[in-house]
Amino acid sequence: PSPPSHAYLARLNTEQRQAVEHGIDAHGGNTPGAPAGPLLVIAGAGSGKTNTLAHRVAHLIAHGADPRGILLLTFSRRAAIEMGRRVERIVASIDGPASQLAGAALTWAGTFHSIGARLLREYAQQLGMSPSFTIHDREDSADLLNLVRHELGLSSKEKRFPAKHTCLSIYSRVINTSAALKHVLETAFPWCAEWEDELRRLFAGYVEAKQKQAVLDYDDLLLYWAQMLTEPALAESVGARFQHVLVDEYQDTNLLQAAILKALKPDGRGLTVVGDDAQSIYAFRGATVRNILDFPQQFDPPATIVTLERNYRSTPGILDASNAVIGRARERYSKELWTEKPAAGSPLLVTVRDEMDQAQYVVSQILERREEGTTLKKQAVLFRAAHHSAQIEIELTRRNVPFVKFGGLKFLEAAHIKDLLAVLRWIENPRDRVAGFRVLHLLPGIGPKTAGKVLDEISLSDEPLAIIEAFTPPAQAKSDWQLFVEMIRLTRGGNSRWPAEFELVRQWYEPHMERKHEDALARGGDLLQMEKIAAGYPTRERFLSELTLDPPDATSDESGVPLLDEDYLILSTIHSAKGQEWDNVFLLNAVDGCIPSDMATGNDEEIEEERRLLYVAMTRAKDQLQILTPQRFYVHGQSSTGDRHVYANCTRFIPAELIPHFETKAWPIASPPALNTPGTPPPQAFIDLAAKMREMWKA
Ligand code: ATP
Ligand code: MG
Repeated sequence: PSPPSHAYLARLNTEQRQAVEHGIDAHGGNTPGAPAGPLLVIAGAGSGKTNTLAHRVAHLIAHGADPRGILLLTFSRRAAIEMGRRVERIVASIDGPASQLAGAALTWAGTFHSIGARLLREYAQQLGMSPSFTIHDREDSADLLNLVRHELGLSSKEKRFPAKHTCLSIYSRVINTSAALKHVLETAFPWCAEWEDELRRLFAGYVEAKQKQAVLDYDDLLLYWAQMLTEPALAESVGARFQHVLVDEYQDTNLLQAAILKALKPDGRGLTVVGDDAQSIYAFRGATVRNILDFPQQFDPPATIVTLERNYRSTPGILDASNAVIGRARERYSKELWTEKPAAGSPLLVTVRDEMDQAQYVVSQILERREEGTTLKKQAVLFRAAHHSAQIEIELTRRNVPFVKFGGLKFLEAAHIKDLLAVLRWIENPRDRVAGFRVLHLLPGIGPKTAGKVLDEISLSDEPLAIIEAFTPPAQAKSDWQLFVEMIRLTRGGNSRWPAEFELVRQWYEPHMERKHEDALARGGDLLQMEKIAAGYPTRERFLSELTLDPPDATSDESGVPLLDEDYLILSTIHSAKGQEWDNVFLLNAVDGCIPSDMATGNDEEIEEERRLLYVAMTRAKDQLQILTPQRFYVHGQSSTGDRHVYANCTRFIPAELIPHFETKAWPIASPPALNTPGTPPPQAFIDLAAKMREMWKA
């Protein structure tokens, strides 16, 4: 048979093409038994790494690779979906026996965590785990830690014991860096070091509680996946399922993730990773840039390395300024990027008086661009921390501009959504204590004591369902409970009828919500929206785990669920903007204290990570980049200092020597500097409203 024609290869440059074709026989397709040796694509922002990866996947499929045997690991669910679409588009453009290539949908594309969840469920029996385990998000994990801490009596006497989220961060750091607790405490949480013994007891109790309750937290998904692969037979069987394993954004993986890849592909055959060491921004969560730097030498023979230096994303001005910023990093990163894009202006460095002016300026600029034909979707506002967007959100709401916020507070954090999901989760896994507490608390007359007793009995029994059925609640909860038991009978085990079951659960829950919340009408709308989302998943279990692992983003829409088709603006933390691009990008609060964050002023390594973060932000822009520096901004202080305004300096990563790489501008131009009197707070109403916006999902 004649080889398929590859018009898509012609669109790539030589190096990209080399990466796409690596190990694939140009004439006959790859030999099924012998996938290519390991490949590393290491290159700067916007050089086409992700695009190259998509082409490689398509090229593999075009040469006969089974899409079901391709494992594609991305940084977010959004990135996985986007990559899947690109692959489908490329495959669809190939002239050839269409029947062979139809249905090229990738079945195994997702984040490490979601793929881990799927595999663990599949192999649960062999691992001695319950296949109906439920997954805790960070909030649930922190709650469980708190529960355990109370049970162990670590809380009452010891007042200054670290808060539950701090405990969780410490625990998570230990797991993800495979380091000793002592070391983690000394290096990253010195103020908690005195609690080493108590923390050790707490974590032991936490691990035991999770196992008893058949719940996994985020870190367990990687930990258990890695552990499962230490079993040679399992490693071989899982490894053999995936002829090709490809990873995007490899610079932000941790040791467990590297170990998983190594176990899947011990000799590196069939393994492709791409990334950029200059964009590593997740060390604070245990990622290590050593993974990408050490990748080639892990294998014998070592991995083939491809570097890309041509940038296709940004104008020369944006690229020049970004190169200048990263050029001052302590480490030497691989390469300077160049572009052939037509020259346009330099990025703008805009000084505004405060965050309110910043919001007004940015929103008016966005609307101007829209007038000129750049839709909202092609524009984005980026910031260091989720709460930095409060003023912008107010201004956008006031001017009726729809937006979606990435990486901020999540829709799923709303109490009524958490309740509803807890019901589903408890049905899936009655041993899940955090979910059980939530459900039992919905019922009138059941307090923590009674709930605790029921849950204890469940945890001791082999027949949790029998305990639930036998439980006699107080009189006022009786009819509720009967309905619940009936519902659980109808839907447990193999009886789940998804998504019809969701509707049943919603109907059961609604009266409870009405009792609990005054704004039940709006919340009821949320539940209906949620039902639509639920219908998009094949099973209850997939719905629950994938939603927990990658929740929908908050939006300006009242229902809080992503607007799907309309035009909307993206607000995003820099971390969540990774890998993406927009025509027009605004970066807020480019001042010392925000970038670098004053949480990070500690050691050099943290400061360097903040510099890379600025580089990531700048390199998201295609045509226009505006960096804003308010002369003063609002600090959410610790309890000791309180919230306050401080005077701000332009970020130290853009020192005077670098200013020539930018155009500078002050706004409003005519403003008399005298207005800027020290200590003048913004109007109380604005502060109140901003606080409300932040509290919106915490109700
Ligand atoms: P990042 O480091 O930010 O993740 P990246 O290296 O993954 O960036 P891509 O997102 O793959 O870069 O590509 C950046 C832009 O360049 C995209 O719009 C992509 O379509 C375009 N691009 C990549 N390669 C080419 C090419 N050979 N010809 C034309 N455009 C290209
Ligand atoms: Mg990319």
